[in-house]
Amino acid sequence: MPLVILFGLASSATAAPPGAFAIHSATDIGHEFSFYFDGRFGAQYVEPQGGADCRVWGTLSKFDLGNVNLLVLSSGATPCAYTPEDVAAVRAYLEAGGGVVVLGDFATFRGEEAYRLNDLAAAFGARFVPDAAEVPLRAAKELEAGTIDYYGGRVLELTEPGAWHVLIEDAARRPLLARRPVGHGALLLGSRGLCGRQPDASDPINASWLQPLLAQVASGKAVDANRPPESMPPENAVERGGLRIRYNDYMRPYADTIFDLYSRERPVLESILGVPPASGMLTSLILLPTGGGGFSSGTEIGLGVFWGGFPEKSYGMIELLAHEATHSWVLPFPEPMWNEGIASYVGILAGRGMGEAEAADETLKGWIDNARRDDPDFSKLDIAHGTGVPHSVAMAKPMWIFEQLRTERPDILARYFQAKRQLIDPGKVDDYTADDAVAVLSIAMERDLFPWFKSLGITVDRAKTALPVP
Ligand SMILES: [Zn+2]
Repeated sequence: MPLVILFGLASSATAAPPGAFAIHSATDIGHEFSFYFDGRFGAQYVEPQGGADCRVWGTLSKFDLGNVNLLVLSSGATPCAYTPEDVAAVRAYLEAGGGVVVLGDFATFRGEEAYRLNDLAAAFGARFVPDAAEVPLRAAKELEAGTIDYYGGRVLELTEPGAWHVLIEDAARRPLLARRPVGHGALLLGSRGLCGRQPDASDPINASWLQPLLAQVASGKAVDANRPPESMPPENAVERGGLRIRYNDYMRPYADTIFDLYSRERPVLESILGVPPASGMLTSLILLPTGGGGFSSGTEIGLGVFWGGFPEKSYGMIELLAHEATHSWVLPFPEPMWNEGIASYVGILAGRGMGEAEAADETLKGWIDNARRDDPDFSKLDIAHGTGVPHSVAMAKPMWIFEQLRTERPDILARYFQAKRQLIDPGKVDDYTADDAVAVLSIAMERDLFPWFKSLGITVDRAKTALPVP
């Protein structure tokens, strides 16, 4: 998933009118990297009220809460602890009037017993429990009962019931949303399912009552409306062998393991791809607390550290690293026909090259078998121009093509990228088409591949490239 991430970028929300109360939210993604990374919580519930949101990628206890009055804490099955320092920072901020919203749903990481968010909830007299909520829900009068959207989840238990005011409960009268004062501030604790459909939270449900409720929770502390809150990047960085790795304290235990894997994999990638990364690319890695994949912005790669069972299992991480690295390697011209397919294929080759041949071959077979359901002998679907080519075919047909060519020239991928680097000068051309890619591949194979590509149902034309096809 290619994404561009800009740290410290001020929110685009319009400034509040003079004298109006402003909400500045900070959404924590340091304990679990989630879909909230793009600021969607703020976009859904804070910015429509003239507020602004920033994200905490770093360690929570080191984040400056000075210009924030709504701290949003949400995480699922993550091993990242809410440390005593985190809890103390949240408590001090609440005491001074800050607002906190904690959204959870009981979940544990790889057979652990504890749900980490409970480290925080327990400090304030509540916990998330594994019992599923039962509909219909009942809401307190102030929430306009009857308009509660809910996609399911688990309930809370209030261990200090007298301190809390329950706002929503399930059919069995177990709390789903509750608030309490702490010092001059307010703490709102609720089921994550009240703020959007799992897992991507893309739908701003319950905005009609959540927006005013969040404004109330934030109201104990004034912020500078003319100065938007600023995101915090992962604050630790190590530089080794020209690569910078950035991580927060929760990710520290994984930094060495990832760096060791990268150090072993980098020469393997360079030999598969035949060239070093494009100049200025792949200089930085960010470790993300998630099992949900990664991203590449060219210079920087984000890696979901728990991907594919890492660190206990390594194949998935080898493939993910190679996939995201390949996106940097192919720049400044992304591959026209197979940008994603070739990235995963390089991952499979890297797996073979690093002693994980069995897992690599199984992965390749899985892709190809899947794609054959839609393109049985790979002669039908046009990956160069066809719209509506299924994802499985878009990914696997390039893998199959390169596997065919490899039987003739085992180093075809390296030869292809060497030829591309040599022939496609970013100073002279400004795009790289499917016709160009087949021409470069033909040059690398030292024979004209256009007729073969056409026989595979791929509409490419050697008359449309300026390159010297053999
Ligand atoms: Zn990708």
